[in-house]
Amino acid sequence: MSARVAVIGGGYAGFAAAVTLAANRRDVTVFEAARTLGGRARRVEANGITIDNGQHILLGAYSQTLALLRRVHGEGAEHDLLERRRLRIEASDGFRLVTPPLAAPWNLLAGLLFARGISFRDRLRTVEFVRRLDRGGFQCSVHMTAATLLEDQPRAVVDALWEPLCIATLNTPISVASAEIFLNVLAAAFASRARDSDVLFPRVDLSTLFPDAAAAYVADRGGEIRMGTTIAAVSTIDDCILLTTGYHEERFAAVVVAVGPHQLESLLESAPGAAQALAKVRAFAYEPILTAYLQYGRALPISQPMLKLDGAPGQWLIDRGQIAGPPGLASVMISTERPGTRKTHDVLAREIDTQLRRSLPGLSAPSWMQVISERRATYACIAGLPRPTAGTLAARMYIAGDYTYGEFPATLEAATRSGVAAARALLKESR
Ligand SMILES: Cc1cc2nc3c(=O)[nH]c(=O)nc-3n(C[C@H](O)[C@H](O)[C@H](O)COP(=O)(O)OP(=O)(O)OC[C@H]3O[C@@H](n4cnc5c(N)ncnc54)[C@H](O)[C@@H]3O)c2cc1C
Repeated sequence: MSARVAVIGGGYAGFAAAVTLAANRRDVTVFEAARTLGGRARRVEANGITIDNGQHILLGAYSQTLALLRRVHGEGAEHDLLERRRLRIEASDGFRLVTPPLAAPWNLLAGLLFARGISFRDRLRTVEFVRRLDRGGFQCSVHMTAATLLEDQPRAVVDALWEPLCIATLNTPISVASAEIFLNVLAAAFASRARDSDVLFPRVDLSTLFPDAAAAYVADRGGEIRMGTTIAAVSTIDDCILLTTGYHEERFAAVVVAVGPHQLESLLESAPGAAQALAKVRAFAYEPILTAYLQYGRALPISQPMLKLDGAPGQWLIDRGQIAGPPGLASVMISTERPGTRKTHDVLAREIDTQLRRSLPGLSAPSWMQVISERRATYACIAGLPRPTAGTLAARMYIAGDYTYGEFPATLEAATRSGVAAARALLKESR
């Protein structure tokens, strides 16, 4: 029997699995349908420069992702790869929350107490709310929605802070978003080390950040990366995993399936033991994320790289010029889709330009604008949603992907944790 292990999917989950397997001297072959590595976090060329399919932000709490970056790029690489800043939420309407250098959760509590743009009474109520969450271990019922969790909170704070944070991290409207997962994110950021709530902006494109270096790491250890190769089906035969690509079939000792949730069904139709996982992902709904890039003639007039916008239509502005991009390059994010807001990219780009020039007076017309829309950016992280668990799916078959890591919403960290979990299950079972 072949001792080779196949990994299907060259995104962050697939490469987290592949690196873990290669580090444990397994012979790994990664299959990726696209010609660029990274999946939903990948490099895109536009207007003669390199951008990403979507603006991504990492948190200091992304311990698994950061450990993998150290493994594939070497210790000390973080500074070149990521711009680390203390959490600071500044809004175009005057709201401001700055976390001081204190231990968690005091950094958040002090930040809330001295926040600008909300009344003193509302700040005290919010501090009391966070202390209550902290005392309760940031836990609640699995079925509770974020809206229910926040229902007795001051409207001004929900609008300025909680709702934008929930949408940015869960990509799901608060009316249906899982309060449990939202609290897990808050706990990851604010219940342990002060550095966990730091915001990390990639200084390189998202393929360079991890998948490209991970591919080199795997290849250096004898593995193989096959890009532009779509696996059509996974099945088992004679104690082996059989992968079908067009008319070609290939045998492997085991497989880690690390594709997006909507790509699972066609792949595992005839795979034994996959029925339960397939039934769960069939019930998923998906949410889009749209990123608009606008190139202005000179540096944006903001003092730090991130600005919360008024949501009409852009929600967050990242000044790429302050991180590593050319001066004046803005990326504006819009998460989830409100009913009736679907517009052409041209119209949206013009609306976002108007919005930026309204919020940042003095900007001249951009030299180019590009909107990238990911229709299925993430599954909708709704309260009580059953999800498959990263790890063993059936004999010799393992599953990974951002939707399989139960504690977190669809994020890079969920993807890398799931990939490592699947690889560890494989290593344990095939010792
Ligand atoms: C616009 C946008 C913004 C985001 N912002 C953030 C953020 O700020 N912070 C954050 O942490 N997360 C963010 N995310 C979420 C994050 O990008 C995802 O959670 C993560 O990239 C998912 O990784 P994955 O490996 O699980 O899946 P994917 O990236 O979807 O990887 C699956 C891979 O499998 C390949 N594949 C599928 N089928 C086959 C097949 N049959 N054969 C071969 N290959 C196949 C696909 O081509 C793909 O490359 C964002 C996502 C988007 C889209």
